Amino acid sequence: MKTISDCSPMPTRHNDPDTQGFFGDFGGQYIPDAVKDMLNEITEAYMRYRDDPQFQAELAYYFANYSGRPTPIFRCDNLSARLGGARIYLKREDLNHLGAHKVTNTLGQILLAKRMGKKRVVAETGAGQHGVATAATAALMGMSCTVFMGEEDMERQKLNVFRMRMMGAEVKPALSGQRTLKEAVDEAIGAWIADKGDTYYLLGSAVGPHPYPLMVRDFQSIIGREARAQMLDTEKKLPDAVVACVGGGSNAIGIFHEFVPDTSVRLIGVEPGGRGVKLGEHAATMCHGSVGVLHGFKSYVLFDHDGEIAPVHSISAGLDYPGVGPEHSYLKDTKRAEYVSVTDKEAVDAFFILSRTEGIIPALESAHAVAYAMKIAPGMSKDQIILVSLSGRGDKDVAQIQEMVYNGFVTVPE
Ligand SMILES: *Cc1c(COP(=O)(O)O)cnc(C)c1O
Repeated sequence: MKTISDCSPMPTRHNDPDTQGFFGDFGGQYIPDAVKDMLNEITEAYMRYRDDPQFQAELAYYFANYSGRPTPIFRCDNLSARLGGARIYLKREDLNHLGAHKVTNTLGQILLAKRMGKKRVVAETGAGQHGVATAATAALMGMSCTVFMGEEDMERQKLNVFRMRMMGAEVKPALSGQRTLKEAVDEAIGAWIADKGDTYYLLGSAVGPHPYPLMVRDFQSIIGREARAQMLDTEKKLPDAVVACVGGGSNAIGIFHEFVPDTSVRLIGVEPGGRGVKLGEHAATMCHGSVGVLHGFKSYVLFDHDGEIAPVHSISAGLDYPGVGPEHSYLKDTKRAEYVSVTDKEAVDAFFILSRTEGIIPALESAHAVAYAMKIAPGMSKDQIILVSLSGRGDKDVAQIQEMVYNGFVTVPE
């Protein structure tokens, strides 16, 4: 049996995409030729270092000593007793450096960029969490870092802009269109193409053209590898269900991957149901979307009636993306994983209830996963187990929640 000390960053080989980067019908590279060469360079390098013991040992060093891995699993006795059914465990990704799983990916990619001889990284960021994780690891590796962020998002997330600048990153506003994440992606790609020699594009989730969905999944798969060993260690059995929130899908695919061959384990991805099922009110891509191409890959996407990318909403800034990583689309169509949604209100209730029962304030993103676990736990028996990916801590969301309480938009549950 694998114990927790055997857990290395080296990915377990199953569900790899084909050489064109397709997971079944999803993924690939839908991009201009200019970008293709640059992606091929990354693919070649990644495939080489994926099997390189020295690269993996260096990554393991930073996982342990910079980010604080392995993160524990925590049995929520109070929450489970309140719900009166399955026992709920949290995989504590909130205890990573910077308070979420994102640094796991930026560490992996920045080490790759360094091995490739790159001097500079560019990244996109929406709410700023990926930008902060990129800025931190660029500082760590002595690389220069430019983060593109929609001007609108910069205004909303001033503190993260300042954090990035403190760690030496240049934050550039994307001024076109809606001035949010989509425009930031466009500008980051532009900067990458303009400066091909020295620059590495550090993408923030398990999305985008091949090889990003594979690479990000591999780096994040340490979450599930640890959690599976920890479950066997403490409970001597696997969980009955694994639940994770899905934005682009990196924490979810990270915790799912190791469990994919364990067909007795239900894998449940929770999408942001927002204010309701009307287009524009949610970002539940797999629950309501259709298959198409976005940002260079084929997957489920939310389109409006004219076939344009639909506007999206979620109370949680880290989940409002109109696409989803291609491997999730594949797991959905092959029925290995289920995808559901919970509303803004359900997520906020879960945010309060976990804080109150266990003294753990979850990120609003993670609160979506907690909310769904709370829905299904009462219908399960006491010897069953739900493992929830607690992707991040909620300190970043406290001011937003406080304002909503003051304005009477939410009420604190009993
Ligand atoms: C960014 C973020 C997410 C969403 O990203 P995924 O790629 O879907 O994991 C979820 N939780 C937290 C805490 C985040 O910061």
